[in-house]
Amino acid sequence: DFTAEAPVHSNNEYGKIAKSLNAMTRQLVQAEDVRRKLVADVAHELRTPITILRGKFDLFQHEGLPIAPENMLPIQDELIRLTRLVDDLHQLSLAEARKLQLDLKPTDLPDLLGRVIERLQHDAEAKDISISFTKESNLPPIRIDQHRMIQVFMNLIGNAVRYTPAGGSVSIAVKLPPPNDSGPLVLQIEVADTGQGIAPEHIPFVFNRFYRTDEARNRNNGGMGLGLAIAREFVLAHQGEIKVQTEVGRGSVFTVFLPLLP
Ligand code: ADP
Repeated sequence: DFTAEAPVHSNNEYGKIAKSLNAMTRQLVQAEDVRRKLVADVAHELRTPITILRGKFDLFQHEGLPIAPENMLPIQDELIRLTRLVDDLHQLSLAEARKLQLDLKPTDLPDLLGRVIERLQHDAEAKDISISFTKESNLPPIRIDQHRMIQVFMNLIGNAVRYTPAGGSVSIAVKLPPPNDSGPLVLQIEVADTGQGIAPEHIPFVFNRFYRTDEARNRNNGGMGLGLAIAREFVLAHQGEIKVQTEVGRGSVFTVFLPLLP
């Protein structure tokens, strides 16, 4: 039981030791709470695909072989979901332990974003959402881990498409604001949508792993609430930052700041 606090009677050495023991205890209790919640979330996320897979297999057993190809598709979908969940958790745990090995290469960022947009075009067209892209001229190349950054922008632009109603639009812009004296040059990538926005009470939590707003949960459209957590960790690993500005009913702007390190 971690909960007992050492009594503090004085301000001498013993009092100071007791105080810092109490502080350490509180941190341990917090870390333990976080761990417990993570295990519960993972168990919860595993349950749905496993239930679906079990159901399918029971059905096959009942009906006997052979299995029609169209009945294989939902199984494949659930296996892809499970694989993604495990991969995402692995990446997150590496990032949180600061053990992510970045494979940094000079990269033409607009080109990389173009490839991401191309991959999401089909989903966007299916919802009659237009994706526009603008960039400043003469952007320098930036040293990034291309696979990780593709995932960051797949998650951000994918969300923009997913949480924007049919007929809306998504705009992506790459900017290089004039240098300020205090820090390095920073590339700024904005992903703006005309979607549902995020209510103020949810904003502080959307980057937490497994956090989804109720609206997102109810619509049951795929995600597990890891996309933004991963995006944030990958951006932090590049010594960057990620911020959101959003208004319910009007839309959201996610901005990634990436330092142009030498
Ligand atoms: P998910 O897998 O649910 O998309 P994310 O971590 O990517 O998980 O996002 C967490 C939550 O933040 C989403 O469930 C949704 O409620 C909210 N959200 C993320 N991006 C947007 C957006 N562009 N517009 C509105 N809500 C968003």
